Amino acid sequence: MKEVTMKKGIIILIGIALVIGVVATGTYGLSQEDLAIYQQAVELEESGSNMGFEGFALTDYPVAFYDGDRDYVVTWEGDGYSVKKRRAVINFIAATAYPVDDHYEVLTPTIQKMSSLMGIMSAGGMGYGVEEHTATIWHEAFHCYQATYFPENMDVICSGEIDEGIIAGEADTNPQAVSLFQQQARLLEEAVKVEDVDRIRECIVRYKELDEERMLLLSKEVIALEDYYTRVEGTACYIEACIYKMLLPEQLDGRYLDGISEYSGGSSKYYRTGMAQCMILDRLNPNWKVGFDFSESVIDLIYRELGLV
Ligand SMILES: [Zn+2]
Repeated sequence: MKEVTMKKGIIILIGIALVIGVVATGTYGLSQEDLAIYQQAVELEESGSNMGFEGFALTDYPVAFYDGDRDYVVTWEGDGYSVKKRRAVINFIAATAYPVDDHYEVLTPTIQKMSSLMGIMSAGGMGYGVEEHTATIWHEAFHCYQATYFPENMDVICSGEIDEGIIAGEADTNPQAVSLFQQQARLLEEAVKVEDVDRIRECIVRYKELDEERMLLLSKEVIALEDYYTRVEGTACYIEACIYKMLLPEQLDGRYLDGISEYSGGSSKYYRTGMAQCMILDRLNPNWKVGFDFSESVIDLIYRELGLV
């Protein structure tokens, strides 16, 4: 009897300790795993990394973890973070940047929700874990930065409706445009991976020729939308890949670089080619991000750097 009572006592004590733990850290039930991801994301910023973009700081934007019912909003307070629980701002499982009151926030599913979703989406493919989630949070924080600092330029890049359907309906169904894009993407992948700057130049010269040919095949709307994805999502994907490289450098190729030349329907291919353009420009002029305001496309900066315009 005594032993049972003691065990019960220990269990109760552990229970009290858990309750105290939650109250003391004020996490309102946000999992330790999600908190650890947030802390890891913040530590990457503290290690001196705004990735070169002036004014960009992850900690400027609250990160709301959505568990399928509620948001757990983690806000950086200067020397630590606070967590607040609220009714979910949007009820769907996706990571995004979203305006809340007078500012932008990163909205993301909890790691538990996200990994189960990604597991279903990429069955047999690469897994989704802590490092991927940290990189995703940085990707969305970069969209918060774009929307906060450069709202006018965001509107100018794509003033029309952002309708992925026109990509699928036009760019993806024109065999000649698809073939040209595939050649261009292969050149970008090579330029990202090659050591020799002269070879980068050759790749970009050829890329430009193919691009001029391809532009003749597409409508103004599709060209504008491609530019939007390449410029806005490509730079966010670049941030994501930079973070991923800091966490898992040996997996950068498999996760990001090897897929640059992969063709897929819809918008995701431009995320990859846009990211590649940022990486190539890093090689030619690592300071390109200082003062970059999204009013120009990254490929134009590359052309200028190489004296092609
Ligand atoms: Zn994005």
